[in-house]
Amino acid sequence: MTTWTPQSWRAFPIQQQPHYDDQALLSTVEQQLHKYPPLVFAQETRDLFSQLGQVAEGKAFLLQGGDCAESFSDFNAPKIRDTFKVLLQMAVVLTFAGGCPVVKVARMAGQYAKPRSSDLETIAGVSHPSYRGDIVNSFEFTAEARKPDPNRLMTAYHHSAATLNLLRAFAQGGLADLHQVSRWNLGFVDANPLKGRYQDVAQRIQEALRFMEICGITAENSPSIRETSLYTSHEALLLNYEEALTRRDSLTGDWYDCSAHMVWIGERTRQLDHAHLEFFRGIKNPVGVKVGPGMDEVDLLRLIDALNPENIPGRLTLITRMGADKLAEKLPALVRRVEREGRKVVWSSDPMHGNTVKASNDYKTRDFEAILREIRYFFAVHQAEGTHAGGIHLEMTGDNVTECTGGAYGLSENDLSKRYTTQCDPRLNSDQVLELAFLIADTLRA
Ligand code: PEP
Ligand code: MN
Repeated sequence: MTTWTPQSWRAFPIQQQPHYDDQALLSTVEQQLHKYPPLVFAQETRDLFSQLGQVAEGKAFLLQGGDCAESFSDFNAPKIRDTFKVLLQMAVVLTFAGGCPVVKVARMAGQYAKPRSSDLETIAGVSHPSYRGDIVNSFEFTAEARKPDPNRLMTAYHHSAATLNLLRAFAQGGLADLHQVSRWNLGFVDANPLKGRYQDVAQRIQEALRFMEICGITAENSPSIRETSLYTSHEALLLNYEEALTRRDSLTGDWYDCSAHMVWIGERTRQLDHAHLEFFRGIKNPVGVKVGPGMDEVDLLRLIDALNPENIPGRLTLITRMGADKLAEKLPALVRRVEREGRKVVWSSDPMHGNTVKASNDYKTRDFEAILREIRYFFAVHQAEGTHAGGIHLEMTGDNVTECTGGAYGLSENDLSKRYTTQCDPRLNSDQVLELAFLIADTLRA
């Protein structure tokens, strides 16, 4: 094997990258970014690593979620706050009703690069390059907008920095105070059929807090009542950007990709002899890899050994995304083999990406029932194999969107057009997320 450097990936074949006309500008931007401050600090990344180690050991649960793609235009405090709130609300339900510590990882502050099924998009006989996420080009369907622009790497960095800044403020500045969280009454809770259940959890948390206060455990002496840890993650697809933010930690001498705490490789770029594997093998972050229905046992073991040769729990999260029916058929053999070979991984379920369908009115959607079914099978397989169903990976938003059909309100295909705002894949709205949270909590508790 050749020596790893932050740029050694450049000698390998690579998929899903934009074609930049202005290479000189691209390298100027890369050099600038290289000098900019890192977005996260290596010690935080190590903290997440050890928490994920707990998940791998079956002692905690990973909750990862956020937009399919963040966008530069829809970038404002209420949006960041609402997604933060939904994540936290879900974590509260899982921790309290599910009785399990939850590691929270947002798909935010850097989720700007998208793999696409085709290089070109054609509408009414006109073709332009596909939209590849705001870090590459613009969503608007014109030749100019779809041209990859290196300056967008810089914009993505600044947007990520501002998002992260607000997330840190929310996590530590009082918004995540358990007294508040359990009282949060997001608009949806009022009309939600699960309102009673959520309020019951909220009331029980208030009672527990009152009891703890009487015993002398308060926010003053126990900061975890007032503060939380929320980590960031994204698909590290655009390696020019990731390389520029990869830094050597002065304490350990190790390399970290400091664009986020955790990064993952998508289903379309996880070839063993390609650039993404090469880049990921050298960084010390906890990493994820998406595992689709085409994966076989031998390839999976090779992938695990390439990314986690020392078999350290917490380093590698396998995010399965197979579709409800295929998962039931394919997952048991994979889990059994990984377990038999003694490999330590976190198993997480992405119930979104294998269940994407086109509605009869052409909207790209996902049915809540199929999502639920994939999660149920995921838990059932792990229960049958005696392994830990370690986590969940969701595309979700705090906005009240209508992008996935079904759920407690029974959204139909006709409802999709009401509030369909995603720039990429359909997301669960806050009601649907809460419903999922209770279902998973019941399973965790069982
Ligand atoms: C995604 O997570 O948005 C994505 C593209 O997933 P996958 O790589 O699993 O297709
Ligand atoms: Mn997606």
